[in-house]
Amino acid sequence: MSAHTEKPLPPSLYAETAIPPLNLPPLEGETHASVVVIGGGITGLSSALHLAERGVNILLLEAQQPGFGASGRNGGQVNPGLKPDPKDVEGDFGDLGQRMVRFSYAAPEALFRLVERHQIRCEAQQGGTLRAATTAKTLVGLEALAAQYQARGLTAALLDRDASAVATGTNRYQGILRDPTGGSVNPLGYSRGLARAAIAAGARIYANSPATKLARQPGGGWLVSTPAGQVKADRIVIGTNGYTGDLWPGLRQSIVPVWSGITATEPLSDAQLKQVMPGGGVLYELGSITVYYRVDATNRLLMGGRSKLSEMRGPAVFGFLQTYAEKLWPSLRGIRWSHGWNGQLGMTSDHYPHLHEPEPDVLIALGYNGRGVAMATAMGGIIARRIGGEPVDGLDMPMTDLKPIPFHAFWPLAVQGRLAWGRMKDSLGL
Ligand SMILES: Cc1cc2nc3c(=O)[nH]c(=O)nc-3n(C[C@H](O)[C@H](O)[C@H](O)COP(=O)(O)OP(=O)(O)OC[C@H]3O[C@@H](n4cnc5c(N)ncnc54)[C@H](O)[C@@H]3O)c2cc1C
Repeated sequence: MSAHTEKPLPPSLYAETAIPPLNLPPLEGETHASVVVIGGGITGLSSALHLAERGVNILLLEAQQPGFGASGRNGGQVNPGLKPDPKDVEGDFGDLGQRMVRFSYAAPEALFRLVERHQIRCEAQQGGTLRAATTAKTLVGLEALAAQYQARGLTAALLDRDASAVATGTNRYQGILRDPTGGSVNPLGYSRGLARAAIAAGARIYANSPATKLARQPGGGWLVSTPAGQVKADRIVIGTNGYTGDLWPGLRQSIVPVWSGITATEPLSDAQLKQVMPGGGVLYELGSITVYYRVDATNRLLMGGRSKLSEMRGPAVFGFLQTYAEKLWPSLRGIRWSHGWNGQLGMTSDHYPHLHEPEPDVLIALGYNGRGVAMATAMGGIIARRIGGEPVDGLDMPMTDLKPIPFHAFWPLAVQGRLAWGRMKDSLGL
């Protein structure tokens, strides 16, 4: 058996402010479970919680500690919907598409109710999601989305240029669509809270226990190995997203594990709070480069965007995001930026989250395209329904074949190219 190297959490703000970690042991020796969940991010933890609540004997293996991956590092934005607009989802999937739209737009509300039910201390605030248009072209898209909201009975308010400036404190936006169901959490606190809730419901969770090998058992089921233990299981769930290795053939090649980074300020002064997002909520910009931000429960501004394709640590390396923030709100000039970190998230080539069942007793969910806080939570419920016997066509997300992305090895070049092009277009105001 190979030795395991423990990795520390990145130096995020959350590592200082989230509820403390659970003291979870590694798996040692041999054991059995009905379902082994691999990966302790929101996908795996929500699956474990929903399954344990159904009385299923669950064991979760996390390579580091719950929330180590994107789930404990993200912007904490609880955003409604899928990446494609409702009209496109329905065009792509017909009747199922209508259910996918309802399901994905209901995901934030479901998350906030789950937080309440399990009393998860994660600074949850349902202050709304603001999608902001920076160009005339993205404004057209935003107006079309507002019409699609209305046609489906979904609630949102379209803010014009002036109202957008009042809501955000900057003149940058041509318009904003505000969906009141979105909001924010401290994502590391949320992940740890999900772990506590899953354990309280009967799940066993092991930290520092990467699954290193999956072996089909002669009599059915699986033998899952970790550096110090083995577990026999009837079924496997894999939720390793941007941190996927080569455990399941072809899975790593089915997503692009892009990086995103966040930098945070010291708490803002009362005067700055009146100018920076005075209307509250969380915001993400529509455009060729995603920028997202919010003011958290301790009044710090968290500013997120694209990052280098490697670990970035500390505030000093995020000058580009800080300069951008100071352009949005000149009153921030001179503020101390105290934290900076990044992480990897799974993008898919069709922009939809992927749910796979490559064998009858294996389920895989990943690729939330930057919307995993709400959607990975919701996906945990789908996984529990499927394992509970729900037919595939009764699920609210499509079950698709696992397909490697062609030319996957070249993705870093493609991402760099798009970023350079995006930066150029933005600086030209295109
Ligand atoms: C900087 C950043 C900002 C983001 N902002 C937002 C946002 O504001 N809103 C939003 O909705 N989404 C956001 N996202 C995306 C969101 O965080 C992800 O979609 C979501 O966390 C995915 O959860 P997951 O459980 O599928 O994967 P992860 O949280 O990445 O978890 C995967 C886990 O699997 C573990 N693992 C890997 N291999 C093994 C193995 N062999 N055995 C055991 N364990 C293993 C890893 O250690 C990791 O903990 C952001 C992501 C990043 C990186």
